[in-house]
Amino acid sequence: MDMDQLLAEVADDVRPSLGTGRVADYIPALARVPPNQFGMAIACLDGQHAAIGDAQTPFSIQSISKVFTLAMVLKAQGPRVWDRVGREPSGTPFNSIVQLEHEAGIPRNPLINAGAIVVTDHLIGNRTADQTVDNVTAFMQARSGSADVSVDREVAQSESDTGSRNRSLAHFMAAFSNLKNPVEQVLSAYFRQCALALTCEQLAQAGLFLANGGRDPRTDEQVITAEQCRRINAVMLTCGHYDGSGDFAFRVGFPGKSGVGGGILAVVPRQAAIAVWSPRLNRSGTSWTGSQALERLAARTGWSVFG
Ligand code: GLN
Repeated sequence: MDMDQLLAEVADDVRPSLGTGRVADYIPALARVPPNQFGMAIACLDGQHAAIGDAQTPFSIQSISKVFTLAMVLKAQGPRVWDRVGREPSGTPFNSIVQLEHEAGIPRNPLINAGAIVVTDHLIGNRTADQTVDNVTAFMQARSGSADVSVDREVAQSESDTGSRNRSLAHFMAAFSNLKNPVEQVLSAYFRQCALALTCEQLAQAGLFLANGGRDPRTDEQVITAEQCRRINAVMLTCGHYDGSGDFAFRVGFPGKSGVGGGILAVVPRQAAIAVWSPRLNRSGTSWTGSQALERLAARTGWSVFG
């Protein structure tokens, strides 16, 4: 299959949808991003890669970072994190607080905000927020093969300035003793991991280890175990798009994780990692055109984890 041609066809398919959806405006710095951009990149396990559109423009990966911090925590500390966070789809928006009270401060899964905040707290352990952010940044640089991956300080500050909702989630979990470090320390790391800026090309490379049983095919490093990799992909498939996860699984058919910056990282086990970016979002906070593009790519390739 010619990957350049595949992406050109997919880009043609989705062009009419580029004006649909709304950018995330609860983070003021994200509301300023020109909304009609579209980029897509694919990295295949056999070394083929292709990109189209704005695939070299860095964007805020936001919640896509949650997949990488989960991988880091599983790698460093094994399955203990599952004592503090579940793995069931929530059926609620990414920043919802409703289930936390019923479920005694244990978030449903690590890909909603509450769950990701717990994962970041676990990752911090006895370190500082700065050390942890340096670590996450270095991990993203290594996985993407790009030294220029960094945190966009303006986006991180903008989210912190308007972060009452995430502060509420964090304090609520602290009240149930499910946060070990002070709320502000954890959120300072969380806001910065969300503000990491990558291009589609860098993000597709960074996701390759998840398509390859945990081994980075470029460096040959076993980043996480094959079992950990399967589990992360399972959680992405069932929880990666919050209350839109079922619809994404139905329409696209392989694991993905969205971020409110408009990016989606998708993983086709044993085939490829795909990154797509277009800032306008659907009601669940997933890129409107990005999810259309993945649906078209799945239809054109026949790729699916469901046979
Ligand atoms: N940083 C964002 C938040 O916490 C991430 C949300 C998202 O990308 N879905 O609100």
